[in-house]
Amino acid sequence: MGERAWGNMPLVGSNGKAATERRGTGGWDSVLEAERTLEPGSEWHSELYRVAVDQFGRAADVLGLEDEIRARLLEPRRALVVNFPVRLDDGDVTSFTGYRVQHTLTMGPMKGGFRYGPGVSLGECAALAMWMTFKCAIVGLPFGGAKGGVRCDPNRLSVQEIERVTRRYASEIFPIIGPDRDIPAPDIATGEREMAWFMDTYSQQVGHPVPEIVTGKPLVLGGTEGRDIATGLGVVYCIEELMEQVGEDLSSQRVVVQGYGNVGATVVRELAQRGVTIVGASDVTGGVVNPNGLDVGALEEWVEANRFVRDFPYAEHVNRREILEQPCDILIPAAVEQQITEENAERVDARWIVEGANGPTTPEADEILARRGIEVIPDVLANAGGVTVSYFEWVQDQQKLAWQGAEVAARLRIQLDDAFARVSEARERLGTDWRIAAQAVAIERVADASRLRTIYP
Ligand code: NAD
Repeated sequence: MGERAWGNMPLVGSNGKAATERRGTGGWDSVLEAERTLEPGSEWHSELYRVAVDQFGRAADVLGLEDEIRARLLEPRRALVVNFPVRLDDGDVTSFTGYRVQHTLTMGPMKGGFRYGPGVSLGECAALAMWMTFKCAIVGLPFGGAKGGVRCDPNRLSVQEIERVTRRYASEIFPIIGPDRDIPAPDIATGEREMAWFMDTYSQQVGHPVPEIVTGKPLVLGGTEGRDIATGLGVVYCIEELMEQVGEDLSSQRVVVQGYGNVGATVVRELAQRGVTIVGASDVTGGVVNPNGLDVGALEEWVEANRFVRDFPYAEHVNRREILEQPCDILIPAAVEQQITEENAERVDARWIVEGANGPTTPEADEILARRGIEVIPDVLANAGGVTVSYFEWVQDQQKLAWQGAEVAARLRIQLDDAFARVSEARERLGTDWRIAAQAVAIERVADASRLRTIYP
């Protein structure tokens, strides 16, 4: 056997001759030189992928996972990178880069959102796709994980431009998606509107309506009751379970929420309805704080009229970072990744962190928080409500049947309470923290399926 492989060809063949020597280098010397210095997995290089791999490694160690399964789960199964031109409103043409990463094909079709943002990259999508696999497994959904997105600044694009980007992105990734292959959904800066365009584009290509190609659609196009609030509601259900477990009253908690988008605004509204005091909330423009409790109705109206929390009159104002350091019982990061880091973890002034966002806490921060006795309910459990109701939507679309809102909420509650109980049991059994317990529950399930299916051929 050769030492290392270049594609399928060992660099040093069984006859001891370098493969390049046998087939000639064809001008590939410099490429081969560079290849020798590449670390395995460097395709996915990104800070978020480093975080995902670190978490996976810790959970795999706790489980004593065999190397073969580790290797199979560590990297995505496939990825598509696309570059495509879009005509802007002023007549100019700009090229955009988009991605779709599919982490595992073992569990069923793949599922995961697509996002728009200036930092979207292959590595970011790879990390998020891995977390989607784990999230689906924790809740027991028959899906593997995927994630996608387009690198762009949606705040600088008109609605018409965003529509053209969405439609072109949908047709570019057409070869690897499908209602039984990979079903996208909303994520940062994408919502019902984009899902409607996406569904229409796919349907135009196949010649008939295919509502089950995406979830998170408007109701009239085959969306489900309750999808818009599902992720935020799931965060709230997790907090309720946590409070029951620790024997504390939910309504006596003081909460800070970072991010006032789909997830954050729902969490604020639902918690306030349950009597919780929301002492701080924020978005990309900064934070608003009131130690006596924000008037959340007034805040909602303000954001509806002014888009951002900035200049909300009935509160003190803090900057984007300071919101994470406000005194509270429960801090809910629900904005973007990598917000709680080694730089600010010492100053977090909460008893629990419940992660609405994906990847908001770095491994270095996890260590500091653990030392300080601050428990973290991880993203893969806390924000799994969204993909759970997406699954309900897909099931309803397949069956051409619509459930009532109450049925959706009741089923969501059952699935998330079960997931919380499974993670809680694993935490006791493995003597570890919530994050590693959650990942361990997921890895055990996916590893079981991988062992049973073995390797083709
Ligand atoms: P969104 O675009 O609706 O809202 C994002 C919010 O974060 C906005 O208020 C934005 O102003 C704010 N924000 C952006 N950058 C910020 C910064 N640097 N500091 C503070 N605030 C900032 O997105 P969303 O759908 O609510 O998603 C939020 C998070 O939840 C993401 O991590 C996403 O991956 C995760 N998530 C979303 C869903 C879902 O169903 N939408 C499901 C699971 C996980």
